[in-house]
Amino acid sequence: MFCPGFILRTPRGRTASSCLGALPIVALLMAGCAAEVPQADLILHGGQVVTVDADFSMARALAVKDGRVLAVGGNRAILRHRGPGTRVVDLAGMTMIPGLIDSHIHFRPLGRDVRQEAELGLAMTVDEMLDAVAELRERLDPEPGQWLVGNRWDQYKYPEMLTRWQLDDIAPANPVYLNRVYRGVAVNTQVFRLMGIEDDDPRTWPAWWLEDPADFTFEDRVYRAPRELVVDGERRTLQVPTGVFLGARGLALVTVAPPEPDVADAAVDVRDGIQEMLRLGVTSIIDPSSHWSASIPVYQEARERGWVQLRILDIYEGTYYRHSPDTIAEHLDGVTADRLDDPFLSWRGTKFYSDGGAGTRSAWVSESFDRWEEFEGEPNHGFPVTTDDDLRRAQYRAAVQRGWQLHTHTAGDMAMRQAVDNYRALMTEVRDTAPDADLRWSLIHAYFPIEPATRVLEEMAELGIIAAVNPVFQWQEGIAFATNVGDERMARMQPFRSYIDAGVIMASGSDYPVTSHDPWMGFYALLTRRDQATGVVYGPDETVGMADALRSYTWNGAYVAYAEDWLGSLEPGKAADLVVLDLPDIFDLERDPELAFQMRDRIVMTVVDGNVRYQRE
Ligand SMILES: [Zn+2]
Repeated sequence: MFCPGFILRTPRGRTASSCLGALPIVALLMAGCAAEVPQADLILHGGQVVTVDADFSMARALAVKDGRVLAVGGNRAILRHRGPGTRVVDLAGMTMIPGLIDSHIHFRPLGRDVRQEAELGLAMTVDEMLDAVAELRERLDPEPGQWLVGNRWDQYKYPEMLTRWQLDDIAPANPVYLNRVYRGVAVNTQVFRLMGIEDDDPRTWPAWWLEDPADFTFEDRVYRAPRELVVDGERRTLQVPTGVFLGARGLALVTVAPPEPDVADAAVDVRDGIQEMLRLGVTSIIDPSSHWSASIPVYQEARERGWVQLRILDIYEGTYYRHSPDTIAEHLDGVTADRLDDPFLSWRGTKFYSDGGAGTRSAWVSESFDRWEEFEGEPNHGFPVTTDDDLRRAQYRAAVQRGWQLHTHTAGDMAMRQAVDNYRALMTEVRDTAPDADLRWSLIHAYFPIEPATRVLEEMAELGIIAAVNPVFQWQEGIAFATNVGDERMARMQPFRSYIDAGVIMASGSDYPVTSHDPWMGFYALLTRRDQATGVVYGPDETVGMADALRSYTWNGAYVAYAEDWLGSLEPGKAADLVVLDLPDIFDLERDPELAFQMRDRIVMTVVDGNVRYQRE
């Protein structure tokens, strides 16, 4: 019997359109057969297709139709879906993976950051940092008064920290504002002038100019250095601020900052940030910092302008610190809990804070931070947002009763212990009335789950609590963390292998702008746990292989978003979000992790929803 399906199976030669002119009955049969062997919009064949399905199976080719994966398999089987309108791409032995999902990225500033700010995260000396600022000044050629911004310095990486006077030499007429990786800033003298402070006029000096404020905590510091000044006609040498401030309270002393972009400009930043992520192979992001007043209008603006070419899932960060449950309830009642109808811009879940960070000695830890005698004179266990478990449970309850997924920032082990205990109590409450509730609550950062005094690893597995880790910290912030927590604890920090072996779903995210947004730096950290500054490997037993690393950046991220049925792996029916890598075998990265540093140039093609959104020149 004549079946047009046969035509589709015939390589080249006859086309479906030549068939369409045939008898109506044939056209009818054709329609029937087309459903059997549908024509693809896009076929990629002749490569290594890493599906990241449950068996981590490999294929040679993949067909896309209507933004979905139509079929995955061998070359011959997939090429059956070729029709006259099919775009066919020969992978020539390259590798295809699912689009990467960054599960934790404070995304909005990225476009501006890569476009017009200085990258300091790669600098290993003060000179390299100054070079980066000088390069930025050269590139932007700013008007006098225009701000120069840089990001991601960390004083632990350099024997000495830069000073405002060095920055003044580079940009005397521009305010310079350099963000630390977390809770810190370095500014030049022009910034002090904008604050009304003049070095030679003591009447303009704030109370903190010569002496630290009384409310400073362990993490706060104002750097000072001797400076010869003429004060009231008299030459004196005084210890004055060098422009470097650490800690939340230290940072707050700098009362001027670069202007915030308005919604239109911020939407342009989102556009440019999306292009940057696409060229790195990222097709979905989870942004945990959406304040209703700030992020959502910006994302909506970008969406309306057609710029949202990757998938944005927002987590609502409206519920902070010690707010009363009533305030939280009132706040959340003004917001739609889950908006999931748009696959490119949705939101779900809300974020709480339990403590600070290990790099600033503000994480809440059972064992004191190291070198505490040298730093503070008494043991420092960091600090919790609250020790009032009744309050915290009531806060959680207000969100959960309104249908919100819970995410909690927990850096120290004490914070993790507290969150797990409170999650457990709340889960019991929820399941009393809804036994089948699918609760995917997460711990964000989740550095220390296997501390002797507080071990929560097995409980996280038992309760289905997700570990939303930031692997790149091990590389980029290794020395800062190791200095503060010591080598032994450092080897247990973010224990990737232990998480996976225990059965915890571990989703990887960057935590940009604290760290690099480049997911391949995260892969490097997962595979090696090597510190960027010293080359020391902390906890070689806790590295993972490429399969687990890739799963943490794909399927597991989809799981956080309840999206694993349509996102996160290359299987028929799922979204055609995929990346082609100029790499013959994905396991080459495992054999030679240094390749991670080349991946930016090895992304050949990024496809989102079946559309090619990035293609290498
Ligand atoms: Zn974060």
